Amino acid sequence: MIDYAALTTQDFFSHADLVALLGATDPKDIALIQKTAERVLLENCGNAVYYRGLVEASNACSSDCFYCGIRKSFREVNRFTLSADQIVECAVLCSKSSYGSMVIQSGERGDKAFITMLEESLRRIKEETRTKEQPDGLGVTLCIGQQTREIYQRLYDAGAHRYLLRIETTNPRLFAAIHPPEQTFESRLECLSDLRDIGYQVGTGVMIGLPGQTLDDLARDIQFFEDHDIDMIGMGPYIPHEGTPLGSHACPPVEERVRLGLLMIAATRLKLRDVNIASTTALQALDPIGREKGLQFGANVIMPQVTPQEVRKDYQLYPGKPCLDENAQACRSCLELRIHSVDRVVGYNQWGDSVHARKRQSSETGARE
Ligand code: SAH
Repeated sequence: MIDYAALTTQDFFSHADLVALLGATDPKDIALIQKTAERVLLENCGNAVYYRGLVEASNACSSDCFYCGIRKSFREVNRFTLSADQIVECAVLCSKSSYGSMVIQSGERGDKAFITMLEESLRRIKEETRTKEQPDGLGVTLCIGQQTREIYQRLYDAGAHRYLLRIETTNPRLFAAIHPPEQTFESRLECLSDLRDIGYQVGTGVMIGLPGQTLDDLARDIQFFEDHDIDMIGMGPYIPHEGTPLGSHACPPVEERVRLGLLMIAATRLKLRDVNIASTTALQALDPIGREKGLQFGANVIMPQVTPQEVRKDYQLYPGKPCLDENAQACRSCLELRIHSVDRVVGYNQWGDSVHARKRQSSETGARE
């Protein structure tokens, strides 16, 4: 029997402790873990929830990940690419809604036309979203997959300052089982290291409840976040997509994937304390109040949809994506109610960088002086 009352009073969590946290199934134990994670969040990061308006810039993709609904060889997808004008328009909408920052996400494309278009969009966003409340313009996070170091550098120079690249799983064997051979674990690690070198705040994350994934794997994922000094985490339950090769493989039932998704947020909060953790859309896709629960289990970032409505349905990484036909304004007010319902406030007009990143950056500056 694990004594969760004692476990949740600890400051240090070993691998075995993380496995124990992730393995909780009794509602009383889960409630205790949730309360502790919420307290650790409030103590280290405060009670603000930061918004990142999510723009899905293109669903064209040159990769073939076995789990993803926009993988290159899935023929049933209408491929689209937004123009720089459209992306800037979404950014202005974020700024007018007082969202402090945005995320530009897309399939993996390193082609010249796309990267040049993004570069132009970033430059214009930084100019056109300067306001009295936000003199530096919107904060921009990119999530456009594995790219060359040169491309990461160009996009950083154009104004992006955070980058999210999920490692997907830190078990190299499982990684190899869910990706084609040309996508290697090592090259993803190299990308994460390039991003850090260039000066981005670096985010990563994993899918939770993958076929064959164990609690040991997930506990090691959390250790990986710590070992790589990660600033922000985006992770969520895996959702099988019928049209993909992995879609027919057995994975844990929905309730278990939701429970594990929430416990991963809590265990990551307990272990890393001051990082930003997103309560992701995948949680909401499996549970109508999944995102609110994510906040209660220790998350502090939410990504409201701002992708133009007419293309949103074409960007489905997995089935059951919520907010497909709500307009951005409806998303905004619905979210604010949801955040207030769990006693938190919205950090409007702020970039909302993680406390962890701020500490790291100020110690680096200190070291240079
Ligand atoms: N191409 C970019 C971003 C798009 S995918 C990239 O590679 O980073 C964003 C994330 O969605 C992926 O990192 C993956 O973790 C998640 N995802 C993709 N398919 C999924 C599925 N079937 N279930 C749950 N999450 C999925």
